[in-house]
Amino acid sequence: MSQIALLVINTGGTIGMVADKQTGALKPFDFGNLYQMMPVLGNFDYAIDSYTFNPLIDSSNVTPAFWIELANVISNNYEKYDGFVVLHGTDTMAYSASMLSFMLENLNKPVIFTGSQLPIGVVRSDGRDNFITAVEIAADRQFDTPKVPEVAIYFENKLLRGNRTNKFNAENFNAFLSGNYPPLAEVGVYIRYNTDSILKPNFRNLKVHTALNTSVAVLKLFPGISQNIVNAVLAIDGLKGLILETYGAGNAPTDEWFVDSLRTAIERGITIYNVTQCKGGSVEMGKYETSAMLEKIGVVGGFDITTESAVTKMMFLLGQNLTGHELVIALQTPLRGELTV
Ligand code: ASP
Repeated sequence: MSQIALLVINTGGTIGMVADKQTGALKPFDFGNLYQMMPVLGNFDYAIDSYTFNPLIDSSNVTPAFWIELANVISNNYEKYDGFVVLHGTDTMAYSASMLSFMLENLNKPVIFTGSQLPIGVVRSDGRDNFITAVEIAADRQFDTPKVPEVAIYFENKLLRGNRTNKFNAENFNAFLSGNYPPLAEVGVYIRYNTDSILKPNFRNLKVHTALNTSVAVLKLFPGISQNIVNAVLAIDGLKGLILETYGAGNAPTDEWFVDSLRTAIERGITIYNVTQCKGGSVEMGKYETSAMLEKIGVVGGFDITTESAVTKMMFLLGQNLTGHELVIALQTPLRGELTV
């Protein structure tokens, strides 16, 4: 077997940040050479190259243009490398991992996102372990086939499907949650892969989708939400898709004005995707009276999809110019294992 080749893509985030001397605020820093940042990588028997984003960013500054660059870096290097590790800020990692899962159709190689809560230069950093294990997972194979041919997030001893995660903690090392899908692997002395839960390779050619449409909004319901707010959001010029964050199993107020506003928006061609505010469990429209109306007027149930995945999936599908019934079907179909019907 030939030597495994990996590409580490450094996009920024805390993992590679330093404190600004004047203000003390953390900002991304270009270490120049990967081995300077992590000399221990030299102990692996892999050929590891790196690609550094310019500028390196705090992930709060992620944009669709950033996703397109990331997808292009992976596709341009797809044949040359056996796996990819993406160093990324944790704040929007779940969005980027979700989006990349949609953009990279027929992915048959690992794309493992990781980052850290403390910069790698800090003595107690969680970054070193996350980074080293992410590299090992990206390289791991069974005979000639990668063990994780999908987009995943490795963080604090767990490998999670990228499009199933949320960042749920701003300071614990254990920062990511996959409320509706089991870990793809758990890491202790051994890396124990949950093989049955990992997507199977389809051995087709990678297809990269870079057309994204950002005419999307998220509306989170709360008791007391006013008609003005709902109508202002639905009146946004050019709005095509609305992620409606509902309560529990997909429930919403039954007030006439509320249902009427949604109905009118749907008639105007806006697709409304019902996603629960809960971190676990699924939307079941019709289970309660408070969701039956939504179903009746044509709101699309998102099952157990995360908001991060719903937003990026909507941008991706609108970018494919899907509309009407076709869009509804695609939203309710698991494309990359992002939802369970
Ligand atoms: N603000 C940082 C970022 O998301 C936080 C982190 O990396 O953990 O880029």
